[in-house]
Amino acid sequence: MPEQHRRFCIPSLLAALLVAVAALLHAARAADLPPTVGSIERLDGRIDALIPAGASIEVLAMGFTWSEGPVWIPAGSAGLPGECLLFSDVPQNRVHRWRPDKGVDVFLAPSGYTGPADYGREPGSNGLSLDRQGRLILCEHGDRRVSRLEPGGGRRTLADAWQGKRLNSPNDVAVHTSGAIYFTDPPYGLPKQLDDPRCELDFCGVYRIAPDGVLTLVCRTMTRPNGIALAPDEKTLYVAQSDPAAPLIKAFAVAADGTLDQGRTFFDATALAKTRRGLPDGLKVDAAGNLFATGPGGVLVLAADGTHLGTILTGQATANCCFGAGGGSLFMTADSLLCRVPLGAAPASAPVK
Ligand code: MG
Repeated sequence: MPEQHRRFCIPSLLAALLVAVAALLHAARAADLPPTVGSIERLDGRIDALIPAGASIEVLAMGFTWSEGPVWIPAGSAGLPGECLLFSDVPQNRVHRWRPDKGVDVFLAPSGYTGPADYGREPGSNGLSLDRQGRLILCEHGDRRVSRLEPGGGRRTLADAWQGKRLNSPNDVAVHTSGAIYFTDPPYGLPKQLDDPRCELDFCGVYRIAPDGVLTLVCRTMTRPNGIALAPDEKTLYVAQSDPAAPLIKAFAVAADGTLDQGRTFFDATALAKTRRGLPDGLKVDAAGNLFATGPGGVLVLAADGTHLGTILTGQATANCCFGAGGGSLFMTADSLLCRVPLGAAPASAPVK
């Protein structure tokens, strides 16, 4: 072979080989990522307007230890230039960012525990939300507080104690249009939960942070308050209880001063929990008042009258969900997975809380 020809061919062969190897690696990665999981259970015809027929549960990312607290970030909020989804990996003490064109990277670490020593299995942030000014609100397990990410840097503590006693481990949060913030405080972030010697409260509360910062205990009767969301008219506050002995969702009437009534059982998941994996956890409410509530099997879709319309059966222990992308999608944090299901084009699916 002439020398000139050899110089031309060898790099070409190498390039072709590299392209082939890259294609094989790409195919292997694609094969690792299941494009869809689970199925949609349809129990009532009303669900067809909320989740289109034929919709599937798409896996967007995987490999998390325990994903939680998803929140859709419109462009310009939380100090971020473009729209994205933020979510917690609680054991990994991180907040991740997912972008449609770039996948997942780390947005914030540590996210919920800043101490020098190991702090149990779930030290990181849990529920996330945006306040009315577009600032990120975090429920921090290990640092036992509700905080706000400040646009200029650092975090400001919004609540960390009740009557001088440290909170257990704030879990999830709902923001009222007045600027008030409701949050739940079960013990899951304490290394030994309520038996932990660091535990200072003997109950699991639901609290309200008023716009002026004053903290009020609005419920102390729930055994494990967890997910929390307001109805579109903000006259009802839903709180999920992740107690295996009483897995349910309660509905509270919200008074003009922001306090709650005694509440009523809105949905009892006891029967479902006998045959399906998972307990009531994070929940969101659409503009028509339908609930998308994690629970046994995945995400329960519940009408405002309490009817169980169907279930997004993820096949995973599913901790939380949020609306995003203009209301056209429901994002779900399901154990090690981040998933998405399309929602109907009806105004009922527009995001509100
Ligand atoms: Mg939760």
